Parts: sequence; C-alpha cells; structure tokens
Amino acid sequence: MAEIFVLVEHRQGKIRDITYEMLAVGEKLASLQGSSSTAVLLGHNVKNFAEELALKTSKVLVVEDTLLEYFNSIHYQKVLSSLIIKYQPLLILIGHTAFGMDLAPNVSVEIGFPLVTDCIGLSFEENHLKAVRSIYGGKINANVSVRESKGYMATVRPGVFAPAMPGDKKGGILLESSPLQGTIDVKKFIEYIEAPITGEDITQAEIIVSVGQGIGGPEHIPMIEEVAKTLGGVIACSRPVVDRNWLPKERQVGISGKTVKPKVYLAIGISGAFQHVTAMQGSETIIAINKDPRAPIFGVADYGIVDDFQNVIPILKEKAKGMK
Ligand SMILES: Cc1cc2nc3c(=O)[nH]c(=O)nc-3n(C[C@H](O)[C@H](O)[C@H](O)COP(=O)(O)OP(=O)(O)OC[C@H]3O[C@@H](n4cnc5c(N)ncnc54)[C@H](O)[C@@H]3O)c2cc1C
Repeated sequence: MAEIFVLVEHRQGKIRDITYEMLAVGEKLASLQGSSSTAVLLGHNVKNFAEELALKTSKVLVVEDTLLEYFNSIHYQKVLSSLIIKYQPLLILIGHTAFGMDLAPNVSVEIGFPLVTDCIGLSFEENHLKAVRSIYGGKINANVSVRESKGYMATVRPGVFAPAMPGDKKGGILLESSPLQGTIDVKKFIEYIEAPITGEDITQAEIIVSVGQGIGGPEHIPMIEEVAKTLGGVIACSRPVVDRNWLPKERQVGISGKTVKPKVYLAIGISGAFQHVTAMQGSETIIAINKDPRAPIFGVADYGIVDDFQNVIPILKEKAKGMK
C-alpha cells in the first residue's frame, strides 16, 4: 500500500508545530489504510531534525542541499515532485501555512494530483480521499470528496489536530540525492527578518486582556488597558482592531498574528472566529465577555459573561484594584 508523505516545515533551526500535527494525522491515516507514513525533510544540515523525527514516524526521507537551507517554493517544488514521482505516495500532507500555500498548488499542477486546501478533517473511503474544510469564517463545514486519483494532496490547517507525542518509534532515515542543479533566479531568498517587538511581548504574558471589534471604538482601550495593567497583564486584540488602527499589529492574536498561551485570557467583544481561537485556545483559563450568547468564543471559554462589556469592565476595574 502506498505511503503517506508529511512535508516537514522548519524555519530558523526549529521544526514548526504544524509538522507534528501532520505527523499525527499521517500516522493515523496510514494505520487505517494499512500503510505507513513518511516524514519528508528537505533542508541543509538537518541531521538532528531527521533523528528527532525518526522517533515519531516510520520513515524519514531526507534531501540535503545548500539550496534548501531556506524555504524557496521553486526549489522545494522540484525536490518534492521528484520524490513523489519516485515513491508514488497515496497522500501528501503539507501545512496550510504561508509556506504550504506557496508550494502545494504548484506541486499539485505539476504532478496532477488533486489538492484539497485548509483541511480540518481527513479520511479515506477505500482509496478515495474525503476532507472536511471549514468555510465562511468557520460558520460552515464542507465535506469534500475528491475525484479518484492514484495520489492526493492536502494542506492541513495549523492548530486543529493534536500533535504527535514524543515517541519511541525507530523510523529509518533514508538519504536521497538532490535533483537541484544551479540556482534559480526567478525567486531568491534574500534575508530573514523577524518582526521587531516594540513594547511588551504578548507571547510571554501570563495574563492577557484581549479586545475585539465588539468594543466599538478606540476610546474604550485606555480603560481596558488600565484593567490589564492592574491585573499584571497586557492588552492584545483581534485582527479587525489592528485593521482599524486601534492597536498595533504586534498586539494581534491569531493565525496572521501571534500565538499565545497565557494563564488567563480574557476576551472582550471577540466573536471567536477560528483564525483567532486557533492561536489562543491553549490558554490555561479563558474568560469571554460578549453580549451575544451564541458567540462561538463561548465554545472555548471556561467562563462566560453574556453582557455588554461596558457593564462589566467598571466592575472588573474595581475588583482588580482590590486585588492589588
Ligand atoms: C486569512 C485570514 C487571516 C485572519 N487572521 C486573523 C487573526 O490573526 N486574528 C484574528 O483575530 N482574526 C483574523 N482573521 C479575521 C477573523 O476571521 C475574524 O473576522 C475576526 O477574528 C473577528 O474579530 P472580532 O471577533 O474582533 O470581531 P467580530 O467577529 O465582529 O465580533 C465582535 C463580537 O463582539 C460582540 N459585541 C458587540 N458589541 C458588544 C458589546 N457592547 N459588549 C460585548 N460584546 C459585544 C459581538 O457579539 C461579536 O461576537 C483572519 C481572517 C482571514 C480571512
């Protein structure tokens, strides 16, 4: 039975979380299909990654090349396509990340395997791939059936699947030679720039008071920030708050912002779209204030207050002062 490929995503000397999430999915699908999963690792000087991955999967396929030191979708496409042609996997899993979205469609077109993007569920009916995609900002789930093919591709939404646990597997490590010859000028890696952190780093905060579009306007921010400070925490926000310039980008929690795991996450006027929730659901305690009792944020909250935030914040402010 053909194997399941999981493309390893790594950056700046670290394997990204999405890789472990896909490895768990790959292993599960492979065991149901009676096949095996293979981590596909492209990079330069990645021996330590290969050894780590071999503990979590049946096989690690490694291609080392200086041209693979930094992600370049053109180089990755060439190498991955040549591995697919050689091994004919049943399914290739790639992260639904900036990296994966750049790469997967090109590989799909080159190889001719159908691609389902942004999957939150994957299964096989016989040899036929079925996928679940969350659409319209998480309001609807679509069950997708893909045309029959000898192989399939899927990009997997980060933060949806539990990651593969530290394992005791002893997967084989197989080195493949690189098919790359000479550099490609169309697209070049120039420099890696980490967005500068000005002010507080919300990823390190133990208490986060996060505001959404529901606060209605920036005039409420000073009062909410004061509550955050009194509690010993920091203020953060959803994306529309940044889009409206009420708070700077570095305060944004979400898939296109920061991932946070504080002890307490207080969400004020935030609906709970998956793009936000994915990046804060690891918080120890989540408290939500929202005037709509059906707001999805209550689905992940440990405590919920259904009320206008303007009724709650003054009380919270007094209580927080009392705690000082
Ligand atoms: C590619 C992509 C990437 C994205 N990345 C991110 C991201 O990184 N982070 C992110 O947050 N979003 C992101 N989004 C946007 C996301 O889909 C949602 O639109 C966004 O999270 C909604 O923000 P919100 O909850 O602040 O606003 P809304 O969805 O408008 O929710 C406002 C909430 O406030 C409540 N409310 C209104 N008035 C009050 C009141 N007086 N008191 C109490 N509650 C009140 C309402 O009931 C509602 O639930 C992304 C979207 C896309 C397409």
